[in-house]
Amino acid sequence: MSHPLDILAIAAHRDDVEQTCGGTLLKMAELGHRTGILDLTRGEMGTRGSAEDRAGEADDAAKILRVSWRQALDIPDGRVENTWENRLKVARVIREQRPRVVILPYWKGRHPDHYTASILGYEACFLAGLSKLDVDLALKGSSAFSNVAGAIASSVARAPSPANPQALAPHRPFKIVYATIYYDVRPTFVVDITDQFEARFQSLMAYKTQFSDQEAGKDIFPAQAEIRSRIEAMARYYGMLAGVTYAEPFLQKEIGLVDDLTAIPVKSI
Ligand SMILES: [Zn+2]
Repeated sequence: MSHPLDILAIAAHRDDVEQTCGGTLLKMAELGHRTGILDLTRGEMGTRGSAEDRAGEADDAAKILRVSWRQALDIPDGRVENTWENRLKVARVIREQRPRVVILPYWKGRHPDHYTASILGYEACFLAGLSKLDVDLALKGSSAFSNVAGAIASSVARAPSPANPQALAPHRPFKIVYATIYYDVRPTFVVDITDQFEARFQSLMAYKTQFSDQEAGKDIFPAQAEIRSRIEAMARYYGMLAGVTYAEPFLQKEIGLVDDLTAIPVKSI
């Protein structure tokens, strides 16, 4: 029987999570939480490497981040759309994995797949909690059902999922937070990833077809040293805002709640 996830990060592309919240996922795993990643697409449109290459690399990255569960849906790369079918596919995973916290991409950005994944993920979290919605029945009514069943079956081989009817009972995550690093917006909180920074960088470098220095696509992909200095600069910037070395930025829509004023972190003056 697989246990529910404590935290599920949902993103459009394999390697997005490694760039937006990989350090946080590793830190949460180190704290004893069970973490997971749902990639909506498989990367078949990438300039470098195939979808199969990226699947192997995503598994390597997941090991570095100590992620307990990872799966990619079959939504077309470059064409993440907020459709009923896609919301059902994501809602099905939320019911199956039952996360308490979901991390989504921020809802604005340059890449349409990223901001669409944000709205799609939010609406799927809502759908997953509707007690009268039978997601499998709804998916059966759509032509995508066989593909989804295939995607689920292939993940079962690696990460056993219960064939337990309870697994698809309604579930709504308690908390949704947005990883904002792809967009210039002030975060509402950051997570200190000083101790996880190096492993987080290595998880990104596990995507060898994407990030090792090579001829293919060298006009559009920066060299590895350049990637490192960009990633370091961003993590350092968000760290500086909170008085730590490296951090990852997040935004929550809700207000912060405080019990003890003397325990609020981050120095004012
Ligand atoms: Zn992406």
